[in-house]
Amino acid sequence: MIITALTILAKFQLEQFKSAYFEEEKEEIAVLAKQVSWAVKPALADKNYKELQEFCSLFKDSDTSIVVKKDDKVIADSSLEDQYVIEVEPEDNTFIISQTVYHSVPIKIGDDTYTLTISTTVQDISKTIAKAKKIIIWSIIIGIFVVIILALYVYNMYKSFNGLQNSAVKISEGDFDTEIFIPREGILYELACAVKKMSKRLKSQIIELRKLESFRSDFIASISHEIKTPLTGILSAVEILEEQVKEDDPVVSKCLTILNKQSQRLNSLVQDVLRLSEIEKRKLAEEKDFKRFNLANTIRNSIMLCTVSDIKVNTKLEDIEIYGDNALIERALINLIMNAVKYSKSDKIDITLTQKENNAEIRIRDYGVGIPSEHLPRIFEHFYRVDKARSREMGGTGLGLAIVKNVINLHNGNIEVFSGNGCEFVITIPLF
Ligand code: ADP
Repeated sequence: MIITALTILAKFQLEQFKSAYFEEEKEEIAVLAKQVSWAVKPALADKNYKELQEFCSLFKDSDTSIVVKKDDKVIADSSLEDQYVIEVEPEDNTFIISQTVYHSVPIKIGDDTYTLTISTTVQDISKTIAKAKKIIIWSIIIGIFVVIILALYVYNMYKSFNGLQNSAVKISEGDFDTEIFIPREGILYELACAVKKMSKRLKSQIIELRKLESFRSDFIASISHEIKTPLTGILSAVEILEEQVKEDDPVVSKCLTILNKQSQRLNSLVQDVLRLSEIEKRKLAEEKDFKRFNLANTIRNSIMLCTVSDIKVNTKLEDIEIYGDNALIERALINLIMNAVKYSKSDKIDITLTQKENNAEIRIRDYGVGIPSEHLPRIFEHFYRVDKARSREMGGTGLGLAIVKNVINLHNGNIEVFSGNGCEFVITIPLF
């Protein structure tokens, strides 16, 4: 495109130059014609054609030739062998024939009308133009060559850059085994090497992190299991003691109540820790064990398992199937419904299930105390509670919402919470 544009521009400039040159020549010859007509007027007035011819002969060896005619008859000619028959045009009396510029002026003396025609050759311009044309053609050829080399270079650069960009995108998506395109040389070579090195380091660091994470998860799970066995023993012993001990002993009775409550709390904590580490383990190992199930039925089951009696639960559920872990989704829903029951002091809960594009959307809304906005960003963190004392009182572990978030993440879903007049938890889970 650049070459075509340059060629057109060069051609246009040449034409401009040519016409400007001829314009100048035309002007010059017109002035000369006027001067010559003044010079020849006395000879014509005397009808002294000899003197006229002598005057014209002065131009014989020059590029300019003069012809004087009277009624189509040549009466003087600067180059006797070269004669032209020229039509006189009243408006534009200048002609360009090939490379020669002609100018004719009528000279009126008495009743006689003469025609003076001056012509000059313009060979020099054609030579100059030919030279310029040659230079332009060579410039265009060199230009084409340079553009082709440049285009090849840019194309190679683009190919290398594109390859490197694709590799970087794959690495950013977590594919550390992707083949990194390394150009043979050039400025992109070092960049590609650096990306390869970075990908290798990231991969080994991630493997290391996963190992540590898995170790931490296993360690917590092992401790919880170890605690669970003696705890079950303690709980059974407390139960037996409660049946055996006489009710009229207030100290023993109080101690037994505390023992029972605290061991129940410890039991809930151990159970929640075990649930969390199980979900984390599955996420790390990427073994999801998913099945297709009806989400509306799972919501109905969760409501039933919460045994909510003094609170009205309104449901509006579409019949939607998802691919996931039924038991985990049920656990997450129980946690959310129980929270609404425990913390909100609301007299009703609305639960809806709808399909939004390619997602199933569950909304759990209560009309209770809500969660102050400063707590909302941290509400899904482990052991984060709005009111610690009240949460403990209610038997909460501070892990309920963390479990919900982890379950939803395992399903590649998302959970958000809105608080105003009560709380609304919105869960979206992809359908496929
Ligand atoms: P826990 O397991 O102790 O119940 P969660 O992680 O489930 O803890 O909840 C964290 C905190 O969020 C709770 O301490 C409670 O103060 C607050 N919360 C959760 N759900 C609601 C709700 N529906 N209304 C008001 N507060 C809530």
